[in-house]
Amino acid sequence: MADDQFKNVISHAKEYGFIFQSSEIYDGLSAVYDYGQCGALLKNNIKAYWWGAMVQMHENIVGIDSAIFMHPTTWKASGHVDAFNDPLIDNKDSKKRYRADVLIEDHVEKIRQKIEKELKKAAKRFGEAFDKEQYLATNSRVLGYQEKMKAIMDRFVKAMDAEDLADVKQLIEDEQIKCPVSGSMNWTDVRQFNLMFGTQMGSVAEGASTLYLRPETAQGIFLNYLNVQKTGRMKIPFGIAQIGKAFRNEIVARQFIFRMREFEQMEMQFFVRPGTEMEWYESWKEKRLAWHKSLGFDDSNYRFHDHEKLAHYANAAADIEFNFPFGFKELEGIHSRTDFDLKQHEEFSGKKLQYFDPEIGENYVPYVVETSIGLDRMFLAVLSKSLITETLEDGSKRTVLNVPAFLAPYKVAVLPLLKKDGLPEKAREVVNLLKFDHMVQYDEKDAIGKRYRRQDAIGTPLCVTVDHQSLEDNTVTVRFRDTMEQIRISMDELKALTSEKVSLSAQLGKLS
Ligand code: ATP
Repeated sequence: MADDQFKNVISHAKEYGFIFQSSEIYDGLSAVYDYGQCGALLKNNIKAYWWGAMVQMHENIVGIDSAIFMHPTTWKASGHVDAFNDPLIDNKDSKKRYRADVLIEDHVEKIRQKIEKELKKAAKRFGEAFDKEQYLATNSRVLGYQEKMKAIMDRFVKAMDAEDLADVKQLIEDEQIKCPVSGSMNWTDVRQFNLMFGTQMGSVAEGASTLYLRPETAQGIFLNYLNVQKTGRMKIPFGIAQIGKAFRNEIVARQFIFRMREFEQMEMQFFVRPGTEMEWYESWKEKRLAWHKSLGFDDSNYRFHDHEKLAHYANAAADIEFNFPFGFKELEGIHSRTDFDLKQHEEFSGKKLQYFDPEIGENYVPYVVETSIGLDRMFLAVLSKSLITETLEDGSKRTVLNVPAFLAPYKVAVLPLLKKDGLPEKAREVVNLLKFDHMVQYDEKDAIGKRYRRQDAIGTPLCVTVDHQSLEDNTVTVRFRDTMEQIRISMDELKALTSEKVSLSAQLGKLS
């Protein structure tokens, strides 16, 4: 069922111009995708919502746009040259390559699902009297599963910390984790694989230097920390936000736009006084979760996952996981990055990256709390939860993309009932009335019902139909995507109605 839903999302994305495989006519490029005419609009609207919520709504957050290429020493200082590795393992029978950590986490998730099953069974058995907390704390089978999960993760974290890849392999074997494709346990050793793409700057003759395509946008913020703090006269606590491309040579690139080799991140680094970072970490966790929930998808689609194995730069980290068609997976990360990055850049550059805090009269390197979300994953989250098939009263089916209206690619479709009698001209008047504020689509081809369906499929919240009566009294029919309800209003009211229904500002208002 979930599989079908995912296939549906992928084929719908292609059929309606949201996402195409990159270089399709050359049979595509693995894990690289292009956004089509509707996709680019939806993606821009998601960006605008993030930028609005982070930069526009916070006096103490500013946005920048730094270059993808950065001085190569950046990546030595940040730890990416030495530590931005994934442990990979191959199955010799299927020839498939996996991330060892993902295999182990999926295995642990299966055990967690067994607990869920026990819970469901018990809830049924005990009925009203069921006390979930008590059951979790006392049932021996559940306790056994929990212990097992913890033991596996503890051993994995310990092995990774000690760079003991042989034990990671041993853990996979001890747990009898099988290749999902071949079903065998015929594994290679676990190896580390650096995820950065390298490229050359300058011609070889001149002694070209190796650059990396940035694997995260965050470093562009750290390198500009002092520039922004000084020129923007920023006082701690303050944030710097950025949206931009990042590149990772992912080992396992699948699940459509969930894991790409070229993708976009929306990141914000929040600079705080040392010792206050945990408060800010908690507060950003809550704020970011609220941003997600404000979209109106069911709250049960979100959960936090606290990291057990922390990245080399972090002292606390959590993911906001989303219920994708293939299960709960990371959508956004919130990390307490300490002063690691700025300190490293001080050391490697020899330049001071400090802040004089007038309130306490001290100089220090600020601590950083980061919020980092993948724009493409967010796009997939929105698309997969919004695409639904309804059965109408007459038994027919309707496919509708009920995205929140402010995210919809097109806000209004203007449809002349007939392609004659001056109706197209009148419809063009409607387009001209609205196009300065909104993306408007004009469509005169096919029967009106078919045109409505086309707009439903790309998520257009409002359809405005112009008919003969429109010529007489300047009224039009407005049809709402979600309810299919139709109302007749004067053209004079159209601008206000559209803005009320689709504006981003109303949505931003919900957050404050
Ligand atoms: P994962 O564990 O799924 O590889 P990560 O923990 O490496 O992700 P971060 O380094 O925390 O990811 O990056 C922040 C965000 O960037 C992630 O939450 C995700 O939304 C997005 N992201 C990371 N890698 C990719 C990718 N290959 N394709 C698309 N989005 C990505």
